[in-house]
Order: sequence, then C-alpha cells, then structure tokens
Amino acid sequence: MKGLKLRVKPREKKEFKMIPKKKNDSQNLQQVLDRLKPELCQLASVDAQMKYIVERFQLGENEKKGRSLLVQLLQEVFVEFFPDSQILPFGSSVNTFGIHSCDLDLFLDLENTKVFQARAKSATEQAGEGTSDDGRSEDSILSDIDLTTASPAEVLDLVATILKRCVPSVHKVHVVSSARLPVVKFHHRELNLQGDITINNRLAVRNTRFLQLCSGMEDRLRPLVYTIRYWAKQKQLAGNPSGAGPLLNNYALTLLIIFYLQNCEPSVLPTVDHLKDMACEEEECVIEGWDCTFPSQPIAVPPSKNTQDLCTLLSGFFSFYAKFDFASSVISVREGRALPITDFLQEEQPSKTPHHSPKLGPLNLLDPFELSHNVAGNLNERSHRCFQKECQEAQKYCRSLQYQCKSTKGKSWGLVRLFTPHGEVPHTKTEQLTISIPFKSASLPEELRNQLHMAGDGFRLLWFQKVCAAVEGVLKSVLRCHLAPSTDVVFGEDSAVNAADEMETPSASLNTSADDSINSVDSQNEASPLGTAVVGAKRRLSSGSDASVSPQGKKPRMAKRGNFPHWVCVQKHIVWAGRRKVRRELIKDADSRPEGSCMEMESQVTAHIIEKEPALKEPLKFKVQPQMVGGTESTRAVLKLEPTTDSAGVFHDFFHFLEVFLPKMVETLLGKEAGTV
Ligand code: ATP
Ligand code: MG
Repeated sequence: MKGLKLRVKPREKKEFKMIPKKKNDSQNLQQVLDRLKPELCQLASVDAQMKYIVERFQLGENEKKGRSLLVQLLQEVFVEFFPDSQILPFGSSVNTFGIHSCDLDLFLDLENTKVFQARAKSATEQAGEGTSDDGRSEDSILSDIDLTTASPAEVLDLVATILKRCVPSVHKVHVVSSARLPVVKFHHRELNLQGDITINNRLAVRNTRFLQLCSGMEDRLRPLVYTIRYWAKQKQLAGNPSGAGPLLNNYALTLLIIFYLQNCEPSVLPTVDHLKDMACEEEECVIEGWDCTFPSQPIAVPPSKNTQDLCTLLSGFFSFYAKFDFASSVISVREGRALPITDFLQEEQPSKTPHHSPKLGPLNLLDPFELSHNVAGNLNERSHRCFQKECQEAQKYCRSLQYQCKSTKGKSWGLVRLFTPHGEVPHTKTEQLTISIPFKSASLPEELRNQLHMAGDGFRLLWFQKVCAAVEGVLKSVLRCHLAPSTDVVFGEDSAVNAADEMETPSASLNTSADDSINSVDSQNEASPLGTAVVGAKRRLSSGSDASVSPQGKKPRMAKRGNFPHWVCVQKHIVWAGRRKVRRELIKDADSRPEGSCMEMESQVTAHIIEKEPALKEPLKFKVQPQMVGGTESTRAVLKLEPTTDSAGVFHDFFHFLEVFLPKMVETLLGKEAGTV
C-alpha cells in the first residue's frame, strides 16, 4: 500500500470445542489431599513425609525438558526480532522449588539488543537511509522501535505481537502493564503452561540464583519449602495463582523460611552479608545499585553445625512466627535479624540514601538485595493476622503426639492433620472479651512516626500511651460513658509484656504527649451535659526507673499491679444501636465519611441517640483493662473487657460494637491532624 508492506496472515480455521467447566481451586486441593492422605499416613516419620511431599510435587524430568525446549524456541524466535537478545528463565521453574503446575517466569534481556540497535543506527546514518550493516534492521520489527526511549509497555506490546504471530501453540497472550513489573502473559497449549515474560527484571534472575545457592548449600531447605508452601496453600495464606491480592507469594514465603533458618540455634543458613564475604572477586555483582554478591557454588560455603531433623525444624518454623513481633520489626534476610521498625519511621532524607525507604505494612520483609523493597508489602492486616494465627495453631498441633508419632490405629497423623484445610477441624473457641488494637506503622502520621523513631526501644510505651489516651477519649467523649474509679484491678496475668519494663524514654516527656492527646479529646467535650469523672491510673504510667528492654524471643514477664491505666465505665444508653441510620440522617450526603473516621460526627450521633432514645433501666457497668503486648508477639494494645453490672443483658451487643468501632476510632484519633477529626 503506497509502497508500504502489509503482512497478511492466512485465516485460521477454528473448531468449536466443548471446554469442560474448570473445577474450582479448593475442590482440586481437597482431591489432591484426599489422595495424599493414605500415602503420607503409611510412612514412618514426619521427615519421611516431608521428603515424600518433595517427590510428589517437584517438577519431573520431562516437565523440565519441555520447559527448556520452550525457552530454546522462544530464544530462537526473539533473536530474529531482537538481535543478540537473551531469554532467561527464573522463579520456581529453575529455583529448585517448582511444582507441577508452576508458571514459567522469563526475563527478556534486551541490553545487547540496545547496543546492536545503536550500532545499526549509526551505520545507517553513515551509509545513507534504508540500508544497514547486515541488512537486517530494515525488515526487522526492531526498526519500528527505539529501545533506549521506548516505554516498557511499548516493548511488551511488541513482545506480545511476536508471541502471537510467531510461536506455535502459544495463545491467550496479553500485556499486564499495571503490575509492579509490567509483564506479558501467555499460555502454552501443549505443555499446559502459564508463562510470564518481563523485561527490566535482572534482580529476579539474581535472587533466583540466590535461592538455588541456598538449596544447594542445605539439603533440608527443599523439604521445608515444599511442606510450608503446601501448608500455606491449604490454609489459603499464600499462592494466589494470579499473583495479585493481599496474600503472601511463594517468593516471600521462601524468604520467611530462610530467615527462620538463619535464626535457628545454631543457624542452618548464613546471612546474605556472610555469603557476600565468602564470595571471590569474580563473583562480585551489582544490579541497579544493589549489591548482589554471593558465591556461585555451594561448595564455597561451610556446612551448618545445626543437626536438627526436618520434623523439629518444621515445628520450629511455626513457633518462631507464632510469637514473632511483626508489627515492630523489619525482617532482614540480608543481616539475618529483625531490624527495629523505628529505624524506618523517620522522615525520608533524599540526600542520605539514593534509594527510597520500603513501603511499610503489617508484615515487613526486605528483599535480600533490593533493600528498599518490602516483598510482603501487598499484605493487609487480615492476611497477616491469618498467617500468624495459623502459625499459632500449627505450633500447638506440633506439640502433640499426633504430630510426632505414627498412629498405630491408622488415624491421621504428622503432616496430614497439619494440611487439613479450614473448617474440617473444629477450633475450640473460648470466647475472650478482648479487643485488639494493632500497631500499624504504615498508617501513623508523620509527626508521630518521628516521635516513635526518637523513642527507639521505648516506642511501644509511647504508642501505648497514645492509644490509651485515644481509647479513653472515645469511651468518654464519643460514646459518653461515665468513667468511674476502679478499686480492684489486677493487671497483666497473662502473656502481656510489661510496657513499663520496656520504657527507656523519660516519663515526663511521654506523659506530656499522652496528656496532650487526652486534653485535645477532652476539649471537644467540654460542653457535655453529662459531665465525666475520670479516675484510674492513667497519670501513673510507670517511670523509666526499672527500665529494661524485652528483646524478641525472651519470655514475657508479669506486668505489675497498677502500672496501667484502667477504667470502670458506666453506660446509661444504648449508644451502639442504630448509629448508621442516625449518621445518615445527620449527614444527608451520599458519600459521607465511613463509620469511625470522624470524631465530631460520631459524638453527634451519640448525642442524638441519648436525646431521642430511652435510657436503660439500670446502667451497664464494665471494666476496661488495657495491656501492651509486644516483643514476643505482634505489638498491639489489648483491651480486656468485663461486665460488672448488666441486668439488661446488653453487654455483649456493646462489646461486639466496640470490637469494630474502637480500633477504627483510635486509628482516626492517632492519625488526626488539624481539621480532619
Ligand atoms: P510460583 O510461580 O510457584 O508461585 P515463584 O517463586 O516462581 O513461585 P513468582 O511469584 O512466579 O514465584 O515469582 C517469580 C520470581 O520473581 C521469584 O522467584 C522472584 O525471583 C521474583 N519475585 C516474585 N515476587 C517478588 C517480589 N515481591 N519481590 C521481588 N522479587 C519477586
Ligand atoms: Mg513463578
């Protein structure tokens, strides 16, 4: 057409096929487990079961061959269009942790193509337009795009076109440009294989090499990874096939396992920093400014002195994370230790480091090389809570004989019960009237982050004081409870860490900030017709005189009597019922702020209910005892609630309302900046 070539493809005749409806994922998982159960039960030990899991799920030789043939084919095709390019597999297909259905992750390395293109360009300019040194560029698809200036999306569009047109058996090709790393996805019919092609992903190729090295250094790693990956999938904690969503991905889970093994006594795996020291000069490697140096061969690393068996290491993994204080730690596989979160709360100083700080969330796990990347940054509070809760459940189970000893009566034992998905084993739930307010570093305002950063090890107490002040504010000012003196309060009978013991910052400054917060809450309620009586120990938060830090892993100590604020609350009105309706009436605005996001609004809602609704015949009385938990568990404030007078039988309703309302309101108060509350 007007001198331009038009490529025409003959029409493909497609047959209509009946595609059987896909079974859903959980059905599949259940079927696999049903088949697996008898096989596992007849083995002699948990160690044998774990090794069997590897045998059963690992990629077979034929599968590996099929994958490598496809890589070879893609290499041949791409090099036609992108001269000197290289296609490199990474991820589970090659990291030694692959399972039958795992995807094929590929990195298309265009670095050499860019050099080729630059050379071809200058040759063209010298020789006049239309020809090149080898005549390839004129016809090549590459001549349509300048790789040095093209966006990743443009390049990936081109990759997708090549895949669609030139690679047999490849279908369902599409570009996902919204991902953290844009990717072209495809499916290979014959191999029934999902493939992902990325560009600019050299770090992933390198971290795959790191996982290969760990696997080569330590034979116990593979059985642990396969077992824990399978457990996590059964419990719906990890392994979302699309890779999106708030679940842990397999890479993050593997790093958690490595971190645990670095922290065993003696350690099973060395830290990445130690590995770096073991590397020789030729093995030095820096990618995008990150040091990725480690030995290329496992032989360079001395074997571990740890001789624990797989069964013990597996139960150790669950115990380790069951009591791990995620909220106050940043996990560093690089250093093999948990870094204090306060180091990451400081305002960013661009001049100090060339890299930004990691995105904080409920679980902070730094990539071993790209140190500004939290590989679990996608997790939300719920998925993190589920992970830790499942670790706690598994830890309990691993202590039982059913885990350790083969059943002589043919009952499920060992891994089988560990893998049983949700809902099959009824959890014995004892109702505990406690409300948890987690420490959420990511949602704190900048000023408070800086204060906590300055407080160092004492950050928990400072934060706890703020929370207590906020809780008191919510109870008193928002929900109009009378707060009365308490005479018989005993605190800290359970595993709470004594917040006072943790405190190192001078109490004067801490109390000032806590009081500031209380005062600001109080001032909102000055005109309250009900008036309030606040008595308790809030001004008696312990000083730092007996300060000692409670490090991770140390047994929690008993808290001391009277060191915490506590309240006896009296509520005369059913202020928890019908709030949504009242809120709607008050705002009359469709996109109003959600419940718990505005203190003034919530106070008005309460006032409205008190005015319009009849009071309870006898007021509800209940105790609130806040405790600080952290160090040996995820940092949080736990409020224990206990009714003392409840003749109307309404306490449980109020409690369930508070369970949701209080944490939200406290978050609002902590995050409040002028004009937002
Ligand atoms: P599987 O595909 O079986 O779920 P995988 O290890 O291949 O396991 P993918 O999610 O496919 O996991 O990721 C492929 C590779 O990409 C990982 O092995 C890792 O090298 C890299 N990767 C994945 N997620 C991250 C992440 N959050 N941060 C850094 N690199 C990652
Ligand atoms: Mg993968």
